[in-house]
Amino acid sequence: MSQSNDLNEVGQFPSKSSAGKFYIVKRHRDTGALSCDCPAWRFKKGDRERTCKHVQTVAAGATPLPTPPVVEMEPQATDDVVAGLMADIEQAREKKPWQGLGQALQKYNAQTL
Ligand SMILES: [Zn+2]
Repeated sequence: MSQSNDLNEVGQFPSKSSAGKFYIVKRHRDTGALSCDCPAWRFKKGDRERTCKHVQTVAAGATPLPTPPVVEMEPQATDDVVAGLMADIEQAREKKPWQGLGQALQKYNAQTL
């Protein structure tokens, strides 16, 4: 039996700093000890008892989220932006501005020399 099998997931808390990330609170099957994977839990400071607000919330009997809620994301404009950029590049290629510049320079030189 692996150690992770001794841990039951008892709560998920959305991270306030990273959207879409959840900190998982687990309870040990035998000892009932709670643990969390948030930074506050993992990077315990000094001699203080290891705890975090998530574990405290579960310990206080608050009902954690059984599953992460579906996070409504703003529609991503990425595809449109990329498509627009590609269209601009294609247009620039077709226009061949560097050729236009070369022709203009040749014309200018021909007139002035
Ligand atoms: Zn935590």
